[in-house]
Amino acid sequence: MTAETIFSKIIRQEIPTPLLYQDELVTAFRDIAPRVSTHILIVPNKHIPTINDVTDADELTMGRMISVAKKLAKEEGIDENGYRLIINCNEDGGQEVFHIHMHLLGGQRLGAMLSV
Ligand code: AMP
Repeated sequence: MTAETIFSKIIRQEIPTPLLYQDELVTAFRDIAPRVSTHILIVPNKHIPTINDVTDADELTMGRMISVAKKLAKEEGIDENGYRLIINCNEDGGQEVFHIHMHLLGGQRLGAMLSV
């Protein structure tokens, strides 16, 4: 298990980042460097470094992340036009913070799914 990241401190509010949502399983806050007009991160409260570390016991949490993404997309007013959910994994996936996070991206027309 890798060390905790800054996201654990945000979840515990040791770093006072405004939270858009928090319950017993997940937390959501805005990305510090938004790539598009709406860029929100949805993270499990438990430190899970990558998707490779997800276990059967995490299925409820992973499902909750999608439910919260849907709720926030509606609150942000981007649900009808559409949005994209991304979870990067490890180096080839472009993961920089080793605490699973789902990017909720929208508010404008997104380009091709991948640029390689
Ligand atoms: P990834 O490349 O999928 O690991 O994405 C990591 C994301 O975390 C990037 O989009 C960063 O801008 C974002 N990020 C890093 N530090 C913070 C922070 N303190 N608060 C909010 N977002 C952050």
